[in-house]
Amino acid sequence: SEESDWEFVDFEEGEEGEGHVPVPTLAIVGRPNVGKSTLVNRIIGRREAVVEDIPGVTRDRVSYEANWSGRRFMVQDTGGWEPDAKGLQQSVARQAEQAMQTADAIILVVDAVVGATATDEAVARVLRRSKTPVLLVANKVDDERTESEVAALWSLGLGQPHSVSSIHGRGTGDLLDEVLAVLPETPREGTGGQGPRRVSLVGKPNVGKSSLINKLSGAERSVVHDVAGTTVDPVDSLVELGGKVWRFVDTAGLRKKVSHASGHEFYASLRTKGAIEASEVAILLIDASQPITEQDLRVLSMVSDAGRALVLAFNKWDLVDEDRRLMLEREIDRDLVRVPWAQRVNISAHTGRAVQKLVPALETALDSWDKRIPTGRLNNWLKEVVAATPPPMRGGRLPRIMFATQAGTRPPTFVLFTTGFLEAGYRRFLERRLREEFNFDGSPVRVSVRVRE
Ligand code: GDP
Ligand code: GDP
Repeated sequence: SEESDWEFVDFEEGEEGEGHVPVPTLAIVGRPNVGKSTLVNRIIGRREAVVEDIPGVTRDRVSYEANWSGRRFMVQDTGGWEPDAKGLQQSVARQAEQAMQTADAIILVVDAVVGATATDEAVARVLRRSKTPVLLVANKVDDERTESEVAALWSLGLGQPHSVSSIHGRGTGDLLDEVLAVLPETPREGTGGQGPRRVSLVGKPNVGKSSLINKLSGAERSVVHDVAGTTVDPVDSLVELGGKVWRFVDTAGLRKKVSHASGHEFYASLRTKGAIEASEVAILLIDASQPITEQDLRVLSMVSDAGRALVLAFNKWDLVDEDRRLMLEREIDRDLVRVPWAQRVNISAHTGRAVQKLVPALETALDSWDKRIPTGRLNNWLKEVVAATPPPMRGGRLPRIMFATQAGTRPPTFVLFTTGFLEAGYRRFLERRLREEFNFDGSPVRVSVRVRE
């Protein structure tokens, strides 16, 4: 349908989710009759989801599974209510509040033909406080003529209105691209994001994963079985460390020590991948007493491809002498150059040495993973860097970098808008400077470029 005049270039391609991986939620809010259900149907690509609004009957919130460009997410249709109900403004505002608590991204739908009503303004006021990303959608823009009404919707203070016609599909592809850019790869935990953070413990066989989970659980005698308001998957362990509860995902096999018996590497690797994807931060265990191997690096790639925060734990430190330590430093310089930002901790699951240092490392990594840089600060920084070190010429022309925005978190994802292609070396330079300026220790950072043809 619509041709975008931006070419989207991805530096790193994320892996697709598989299996019982929790997926993020997109909530659709707005007053009745703006076209929320029609948009939901358009997004999920099905017709049967159309739920008739029966006057006097309040529709419940319904979630549908959607897939766009290979990424899965849930779409939550926040339901309808009696169009003539008193306190409409209040109930739409409440719906928006709820979406801010539970969803990972929010779309506010406004009817472009009608324009912004008092109710739309009230909801926008609520959503302007949102820490969850909000996209403003101007619906019913069926043709060019209506397009002129759209600019007025900037007044809602929610940024650029995205014009679509849900009924005809006009602009919805571009909208979904925007949704994916702001939607985190993993959902927030529980209500208000306050639940235990999810940690995966990964590494090749025999690095000490079982020993570590046993040590961590035993150390404070507190494998927690129940936390108010949390349902715990029996394959996970809740462990209290540093005064906080953490959810170690998919540790059942480690606890029971069955993983070795079914030693097929293929299944072990699937399991590792599943655990990484179910987690927010991964602790990659490496046997410090042995040379770093291909197998270690394969697990490392899984973590970085999945875009999870990372802590490198060098285990069996009790076996490391001075010679081995020097050798290891050299191996790290050679093999782990791709992740100079990873947090490093030297531990012994056996003696318990320094295992408590995992906590600050996990916290730092997760802070970076969640971090959001205000657009103003980001662009001031960008202007300075580009002025001091402009990008190299391409085909006799100097590519201009016009603007940057942080499109998402978990992991931090940035988009640069340029007038020409940026060379890989220069992109790496920018990423390095970005890290120096804003500090993303422990988290991968994604930078992509939109080139205007
Ligand atoms: P909801 O109450 O917000 O869920 O709105 P609905 O999806 O039920 O749509 C309300 C009315 O607007 C229906 O009659 C739809 O057919 C119509 N509608 C929805 N999207 C569009 C659109 O893009 N263009 C036009 N012209 N009508 C639309
Ligand atoms: P997994 O396969 O990753 O779960 O590894 P295990 O926890 O089963 O550990 C494999 C072997 O390494 C066992 O014999 C452990 O006792 C031993 N091991 C684990 N951690 C340490 C450690 O920190 N120091 C020493 N010396 N041995 C360890």
